[in-house]
Amino acid sequence: MPLPTNDTFVTYPDGAIVSIGTVLHVKSLTAGRSAVLLDITAFHPVEMAWPDQPADRGTMTTTAGTQPILGCVTGGIRDGELHLGTDMPVRMGTDGWVFVVAHLIEGPPPAVGESVQIDVEDDLRAALSAGHTACHLAALALDAALAAAWTKPVVKDALGNPAFDSLAIQHSRIDAHRSTDTYRIGKSLRKKGFSPTSLDDPASVAERVNAQLSQWIQAGGAVRIDREAAALSARRTWVCELPTGRINIPCGGTHIQDLAELSAINASLTIAEIDGGHLLIMETVAAPN
Ligand SMILES: [Zn+2]
Repeated sequence: MPLPTNDTFVTYPDGAIVSIGTVLHVKSLTAGRSAVLLDITAFHPVEMAWPDQPADRGTMTTTAGTQPILGCVTGGIRDGELHLGTDMPVRMGTDGWVFVVAHLIEGPPPAVGESVQIDVEDDLRAALSAGHTACHLAALALDAALAAAWTKPVVKDALGNPAFDSLAIQHSRIDAHRSTDTYRIGKSLRKKGFSPTSLDDPASVAERVNAQLSQWIQAGGAVRIDREAAALSARRTWVCELPTGRINIPCGGTHIQDLAELSAINASLTIAEIDGGHLLIMETVAAPN
């Protein structure tokens, strides 16, 4: 069975939750499962290299009926071999590779050439989109709240503040209407000029973060994903209109369409001691309007 020679076209960056695609390939997995590759899909997969936003939930419908999609991962194809999820040895977008969305199902898979409908669970998608938008805004607000903590020049974020978020982030997890971001404050961050005493009073940092978030939510602002192409590996950018101007952040996830969809975003900060430094954990909650 031949493998796809082009990236999967993805429609979830535009907010799509339904798609009709053609089966291009089916790979048998263990335990009666299969990975189904389509030419086009609305289903957001989890990207193992940076698994911040989990996969959508939903179903696949063929002439034989409707079955749940049990998981959805990204895959890469090279030299006639399909590598799924964590087995993918290269980063998304690497030259010479084809990148695909693999829908995992159990039971008899559809045939190659068959047309299938994908339906994404709307409520979960909307909640993850809210959580993801809140995650980006909280990161920007945290960068701003810690701007005075740096003693040396470092890379700047989309708002021009020292990029604490991208320099210190260890792990980011988006859930329904919330996100959890874990930052490491260790030797390498201190060497870059970050002064850890700025986090001696995390509650006051959180207050500054929340004041900024509240200002942004009150102002409202359009949010969209810009992209160069429909291909899975095409560069995508989160674009948000803030009162100070339009900002851009590279992002492969899904988002709400306007900050006015949220009534509030609230972040809380906790510090944990680890070997050689601290972890800062930011829990962000997005309240829908
Ligand atoms: Zn993102």
